[in-house]
Amino acid sequence: MRKPIPRPARLTPETTAVLTGIGEDAAFGAIAPPLHLSTTFAFEAVEREGPYAYSRAGNPSRDLLGRALAQLEGGAGAVITSSGMAAIDLVLSLLGPEDLVVAPHDAYWGTLRLLGARAARRQFRLALIDQGERPAVERALAERPRLLLIESPSNPLMRVIDIADLASRAKAAGAQVAVDNTFLSPALQQPLALGADFVVHSTTKFINGHSDVVGGAVVAADRADLDTLASWAGTVGAVGSPFDAYMTLRGVRTLFARVERQQLSAMAIAEFLEAHPMATAVHYPGLPSHPNHALASRQQRGFGAMLSFELSGGLEAVRRFADALRVFTLAESLGGVESLVAHPQTMTHAGMARPAQVAAGITDGLLRLSVGLEHVEDLLADLAAALDAAKAAGAP
Ligand code: PLP
Repeated sequence: MRKPIPRPARLTPETTAVLTGIGEDAAFGAIAPPLHLSTTFAFEAVEREGPYAYSRAGNPSRDLLGRALAQLEGGAGAVITSSGMAAIDLVLSLLGPEDLVVAPHDAYWGTLRLLGARAARRQFRLALIDQGERPAVERALAERPRLLLIESPSNPLMRVIDIADLASRAKAAGAQVAVDNTFLSPALQQPLALGADFVVHSTTKFINGHSDVVGGAVVAADRADLDTLASWAGTVGAVGSPFDAYMTLRGVRTLFARVERQQLSAMAIAEFLEAHPMATAVHYPGLPSHPNHALASRQQRGFGAMLSFELSGGLEAVRRFADALRVFTLAESLGGVESLVAHPQTMTHAGMARPAQVAAGITDGLLRLSVGLEHVEDLLADLAAALDAAKAAGAP
């Protein structure tokens, strides 16, 4: 048996992301951790279970990813789920029919759909509010909710919510707080340090970072909450596969380097769009013109690689713009090494009723960009050409 390489007790998050599981293989001293696909594990004897018994309940490859994410988010532990939606649903499993959930009216559409469907089945009560509006928040908290769900920055409008402020007021009202940290990843924001009880992730996005795994995670601040969630995830089988966990941990190793580079390009693109006459509004918290710029500067370690903007000329301009792109790809999802553009109204938020779209600010001309690792000059040239192509439809 080889001993794991001893590591210093305290490491920076960047190093933790790179080194989790490296050099720990007791059998052969493998540097990269082995992938444990086995569904079942031998008992040592009758009534003597080893560290693992059955992979729905626990698996070494999945646990390694959980360890990495828990350390990066500063939590007691993590449950690795089969998707981001499964991660959100896992948190919702804590609720009963009398419990009230307060969530943002402009959240990711999949989240809204899940919340609405479960509330319609009377699994909890639901209030969707504009969390940036103080009176709406006060009214909702006066109802003594059991859970407050925050998405910051929001998908797709990049609204930033004051997590520390909302978390402390929610806790005073007796609620637990869950934050969807998908858009920033733990490299740029740590909601537990701001007072949240749970962080949820679609690891499909920045954490895996290569658009080849659908996965999710819940990180809990408290050990008892973690145990409850882990036990339920094992009971219903909402857990992620070992292979997906292995792939995702591979993505985690480069998370900081990717996100740091990607957000530099995002900033350059936001500035370029802000100066372009075809973009009538640009939503990027890194721009001083963004209404939550000061809050984002305080709350986040960076502004991230997601942004959205309003293209002049409506749907026809959007069509011309998308057809002209040669480096960006028109696709849903985000957070990969490749740059993507999405039209929320007809893609990610297409299932949302038109009045709800309007209330959430999802207009004909809104486009969302996920900025990847291509050279920023290629990205800017691609956008410039596509904006030129859109001009015929929408010269302001
Ligand atoms: N949360 C946010 C903010 C998202 O953007 C998404 C997906 O786009 C999800 C959750 C759901 O994640 P998944 O697609 O992995 O289920």
